[in-house]
Amino acid sequence: MIELENPDHKSGFFIFSRRQTAIYHLADPGGTAYLGGMKKIGVLTSGGDAPGMNAGIRSVVRTAISQGAEVVGIIGGYSGILEKRFQDMNLRSVANIIQRGGTILKTGRSLEFMKPEFRKQAAENLQAAGIEGLVCIGGDGSFRGAHALWQEHQIPVTGIPGTIDNDIFGTENTIGFDTAVNTALECIDKIRDTAASHDRLFIVEVMGRNCGLIASHVGLAGGAELIFAPDLVITVDQAVERIKAGMNKGKTSSILVAAEGQKPGRAYDLAEQIRKKTGLDAKVCILGHIQRGGTPTANDRILASQLGAAAVDGLLKGERDVMFGMQGNQIVKVPFETATTQVKSTPKEYLNLANILAN
Ligand code: ADP
Repeated sequence: MIELENPDHKSGFFIFSRRQTAIYHLADPGGTAYLGGMKKIGVLTSGGDAPGMNAGIRSVVRTAISQGAEVVGIIGGYSGILEKRFQDMNLRSVANIIQRGGTILKTGRSLEFMKPEFRKQAAENLQAAGIEGLVCIGGDGSFRGAHALWQEHQIPVTGIPGTIDNDIFGTENTIGFDTAVNTALECIDKIRDTAASHDRLFIVEVMGRNCGLIASHVGLAGGAELIFAPDLVITVDQAVERIKAGMNKGKTSSILVAAEGQKPGRAYDLAEQIRKKTGLDAKVCILGHIQRGGTPTANDRILASQLGAAAVDGLLKGERDVMFGMQGNQIVKVPFETATTQVKSTPKEYLNLANILAN
């Protein structure tokens, strides 16, 4: 059985080692000892899609079946519960999907689910279909919905973090983040060819909403001259100073990476302000939804496989209202409330290092 190891109440998560999860499977291959009476569980993907969600679905379905539970796929996120879009899953339903981006269960945003009366309807629909618990693969909004479903109707839900933004507290990485960073990096490498050939200044805007993690990783890995993150303010004057200093050192081209922040398209404002102050014609490239698609990296597939299995193990042995994430090399359990109310900040050290290395 998985034992809680190092319960770390201060940080709000509990830590399992990967080894313990493995031992759990080996020691109890049938797994029925931990079913706790739960015979049928549902799995859904919700919010923005992310590469690796399919690997997570595969892991949830096959782990649950290996432990004697039936699995129902819910199509289209929370709307799918309201519309009773339930589909029985078997081992073959998740064949040949580990390498595919997007989500075979579809995803979406449901305004109705934000209202208590619709969540009541959702709980009734789940009960009528015999679905006793849920694994939710999604972002912080999805986890808020899952938390409400547990609080208001005692529907047991565990979650795994699926979003390219990596903006969920309590897990180092979310499923899809690594792929998005690598996709953006590939684009930056291509833009750099043009920037160097034409002696140009480029501003590349990456996704991440209010979180600067994509920007900081892409910026450091892509050798950006400057990184704009939503939570670490750099003024246009500072940026201009830096661009000029680079030019004085013989730089003929530069790449600035900007997180979209609350206002996607802000790279155009930045370019305009830089042009006004320097006369330099900064080209803008907004990577947009390209970052959300594509084949998941090995890291995302492994993360999704491990967390999917942990979320099912947890659900079947009585965990509720928690997300399973990864910290260091360990699987951690984080209450939805903690994961959705605490904020992850941009690693300042990445920005500092990028500044030094771009000299
Ligand atoms: P993500 O999960 O990627 O952060 P959203 O923020 O759009 O994406 O959330 C996905 C869905 O979760 C929403 O469309 C809504 O149905 C549900 N949801 C979000 N916030 C809440 C909330 N506070 N209460 C109930 N449901 C919510």
